[in-house]
Amino acid sequence: EVTHKSDIEIAQEASMKRIDEIAAQLNLTEEDWEPYGRYKAKLSLDLFDKLKTAPEGKVVLVTSINPTPAGEGKSTVTVGLGQALNRIGEKAIIALREPSLGPSMGLKGGAAGGGYSQVIPMEEINLHFTGDIHAITTANNALAAFIDNHIHRGNELNIDPRRIVWKRVIDMNDRALRNIVIGLGGPIQGVPREDGFDITVASEVMAIFCLARDLKDLKKKLSRMVVAYTYDNQPITVSDLKVEGALTLLLKDALRPNLVQTLENTPAIIHGGPFANIAHGCNSIIATKLASKLGDFVVTEAGFGADLGAEKFLNIKSRYGELKPSAVVIVATARALKMHGGVDKAQLSGENVAALAKGIANLEKHIETIQAFGLPFVVALNRFVSDHDEEVQHILNWCRERNIPVEIADVWLKGGEGGEDLARTVLNIIESQTNAFEPLYTLDQPLEEKIITIAEKVYGAAGVQFSQKALAQLREFEQQGWSTLPVCMAKTQYSLSDDPKKLGRPTEFVITIRELKASIGAGFIVALTGDVMTMPGLPKSPAALNMDVTEDGKAVGLF
Ligand code: ADP
Repeated sequence: EVTHKSDIEIAQEASMKRIDEIAAQLNLTEEDWEPYGRYKAKLSLDLFDKLKTAPEGKVVLVTSINPTPAGEGKSTVTVGLGQALNRIGEKAIIALREPSLGPSMGLKGGAAGGGYSQVIPMEEINLHFTGDIHAITTANNALAAFIDNHIHRGNELNIDPRRIVWKRVIDMNDRALRNIVIGLGGPIQGVPREDGFDITVASEVMAIFCLARDLKDLKKKLSRMVVAYTYDNQPITVSDLKVEGALTLLLKDALRPNLVQTLENTPAIIHGGPFANIAHGCNSIIATKLASKLGDFVVTEAGFGADLGAEKFLNIKSRYGELKPSAVVIVATARALKMHGGVDKAQLSGENVAALAKGIANLEKHIETIQAFGLPFVVALNRFVSDHDEEVQHILNWCRERNIPVEIADVWLKGGEGGEDLARTVLNIIESQTNAFEPLYTLDQPLEEKIITIAEKVYGAAGVQFSQKALAQLREFEQQGWSTLPVCMAKTQYSLSDDPKKLGRPTEFVITIRELKASIGAGFIVALTGDVMTMPGLPKSPAALNMDVTEDGKAVGLF
């Protein structure tokens, strides 16, 4: 058996170019960027002005089937496709999310692609990078401190301490902080109340950071965030507290997107990283837009499967960013499709074409979804070295019989070279197919209708059931004038339904909307189905157990 190098071994052996060389590749001059060490840079937001008349490059969105513990490899394919486009002579830039430390320490290890399709410096990207997530944590928690101080200092705004919806955050999976009591210890220690922590990437500040067009827009959005309700149930916003200026100040450097490179020196912009359940799961609009101004192609990724990340990219991010994707890549693996067909994780290595044939229904649903958005697409079969030929052939045949463009992506093992066929097919579908992109709903439709549209058209649900609480909130939000916002669905990523155990392509199911949450700053209404995790916990054997640092400072075990 051949052994393969780990992601971190490959990343540490890479021949990185200095970041000024990458900047030069993009024709950037000295005032356009600022170095953060030798291999990272922050790009100036003035570039938007400078490039005002530059044409916008084509946006290629990478999404996938519903994730399984078998791993799908969206980031890996995103990086590999970007590298491949460059190899065949196109000027492509990659736009990705910043990894969160919580999942890295918990389950995932690194989140910067894998094998020979990674963004580097991998250690730094995975650890503290340029400090953006720290800045977001700080802005979020400063706001929490301002709220508690306001109440402590006499509560002029009449905030009901039992109705504060603003939570503190930390970028770690820390279940013990989910529900806490603060302000204990007597009158000078503040006003006691129940509170709790979310993970930073679930914060509305992160969502806003990723949807803002510039500093001015960031401030406007921050000022609109609803943080609490008064004793007579009126919303209190950041602008009532008059701290939008301070919060924007804390985020001003973070808002400049980060430039790095891939293993093959393809430029990559990594910026922002909201959760794809409570938020919209895509890197910042600023990063995607700037990449499209600087390159002819931007390859970008949306979190989880096409039912969550891509749906939100296409219904929320595209709308706010005025982006029109040119093509979608739907990543699938034989392993994950077998799991959707009922195979246990422990049995994945054995050949099982029958299970695969069943599980492929999950891919079929996501294909229909992308078709419903009117977009050209290609299925990318992310090849694992352990894949059986029969299984690979089955997927290829299944697609070809239906005239569905499909390519094997061998980018984990071979880097850009293994993605050249995929890259050519992406160019081909952009060229030859009509792009009739439209979001699935219009903003003037009632919230209820938007939710039903997503449930039926994207999840394949038979209908939607609203709890009494959700129905009351729908009425309340309408009165507040919030019903013209898009909807951000919070649903399990594992299933098309709201039951994580229903794999494959479930039918005849009903989606239950338990509760709504107003993210007025971000500009969407979150619809919560089932229990949605905004502060994950650590598993029994967290990935952190394998992590270490050598005496000379080299990271070990970040996968
Ligand atoms: P996603 O973006 O879908 O979460 P990633 O691209 O981050 O997935 O990949 C998750 C993990 O799976 C990484 O450690 C990566 O190295 C591994 N991986 C991805 N594709 C392959 C492949 N074809 N063969 C082996 N490992 C892979």
